[in-house]
Amino acid sequence: MEADFNTPPTTCEMAAKEEIVVKKPEVQLKGIGLGDNEDGDIAAAVCNGTVASYSLESSLGDCKRAASVRRTALELMTGRSLNGLPLEGFNYESILGQCCEMPVGYVQVPVGVAGPLLLNGSEYMVPMATTEGCLVASTNRGCKAILMSGGATSILIREGMTRAPVVRFQSAKRAADLKFYIEDPTNSDSLSDIFNRTSRFARLQDIKCAVAGKNLYMRFSCFTGDAMGMNMVSKGVQNVLDHLQIMFPDMDVISVSGNFCADKKPTAVNWIEGRGKSVVCEAIITEAVVNKVLKTTVPALLELNMLKNLTGSAMAGAMGGFNAHAANIVSAIFIATGQDPAQNVESSHCITMMEGVNGGKDLHISVSMPCIEVGTVGGGTQLASQAACLNMLGVKGANGTSPGSNAQKLATVVAAAVMAGELSLMSALAAGQLVKSHMKYNRSTKDVKAA
Ligand code: ADP
Repeated sequence: MEADFNTPPTTCEMAAKEEIVVKKPEVQLKGIGLGDNEDGDIAAAVCNGTVASYSLESSLGDCKRAASVRRTALELMTGRSLNGLPLEGFNYESILGQCCEMPVGYVQVPVGVAGPLLLNGSEYMVPMATTEGCLVASTNRGCKAILMSGGATSILIREGMTRAPVVRFQSAKRAADLKFYIEDPTNSDSLSDIFNRTSRFARLQDIKCAVAGKNLYMRFSCFTGDAMGMNMVSKGVQNVLDHLQIMFPDMDVISVSGNFCADKKPTAVNWIEGRGKSVVCEAIITEAVVNKVLKTTVPALLELNMLKNLTGSAMAGAMGGFNAHAANIVSAIFIATGQDPAQNVESSHCITMMEGVNGGKDLHISVSMPCIEVGTVGGGTQLASQAACLNMLGVKGANGTSPGSNAQKLATVVAAAVMAGELSLMSALAAGQLVKSHMKYNRSTKDVKAA
């Protein structure tokens, strides 16, 4: 949602930037409407700039045909084949105006499944879209360790999607005046009313202000039901800004997003305050399971966690990165379930803690993740493949009886799957198995022999 919405360049302008030698075929379009022409002629017209590539969907009124023509134009223009990138088997209507512009096909990512993941008394089969060998197998092993130890508990401790506009005044005093106005409890009801009017689901929780000279950053936090919530919170923010403009006519709105939000960037504000769903997840893994399933020992895991996830990350100056590979599991579930993969940045913030319990015999593991940004409605979640993966988890679409609870449940599953991934990778490292298992699952026999 931080994209730049400039007018799309023509195909030939794109090619010029890429320094591709463009062929500009001569073509005369004779049909009355664009769609009355042969596809090859329309593609030639796209290629020579007579027809704008981005207008094909609206002028042809057929998304699949538009993608096919655009693809032909691209092949014509570059002289390179797109064989291998499928065109057939996808509903191009379903992405129009919502998920992707100027499509020419779709990339296939395999989906594996890890589980059962026993979490809060229920079993989940976790879909993971990835091309990294070992990842699903490893997460699956972590799930097994959790299952054999009696399951995990995952708790949502806070939720609220954020957006922080930046506004400017002629003086620092005026920026401070607005901060005091927003923080005055007698104004909070009216600000909430104005914000909440924009959606049935949006509920303003608080506005955190930060002053930088004459500029004010207002970090709005809001409940967004089953939606990840960026659109929802942005609409509410715009309503409040319009209202504040009347009260503070000297306020200059610089941008609805001033990066104090903070979307898709690693920041301390997200790590400390949280963004999206903040979840903590824990399990006690018995000594027998650590030995038999994870093939290591509790003391080896405790030492490794201290030296790698805590001390090693501190030495590296990490922020939110006190874990072994949370981003691996987060990204794979995000891609499978239609989340915004770029939000993996803050959604993967995680601290993994390990402690000896029951006299030091068994392992207590926890992951604390303050910024899991997920939804089960909106964006890519409504596409057929992604909706099927949400359905496998039992969290597809809006929850009719308790809005928000599908997205909340998904966040708790993400955290528990991360914990499974942490358990397995940390155990592999502690047992010195990592390279061996990667050579087994990640390389073809040919590569292994060559290596
Ligand atoms: P986002 O804010 O995550 O970008 P969208 O605005 O695309 O999401 O999608 C949310 C839309 O879904 C809104 O129009 C909202 O009214 C609708 N909606 C329907 N049911 C729910 C629900 N249970 N929770 C949140 N939004 C819902």
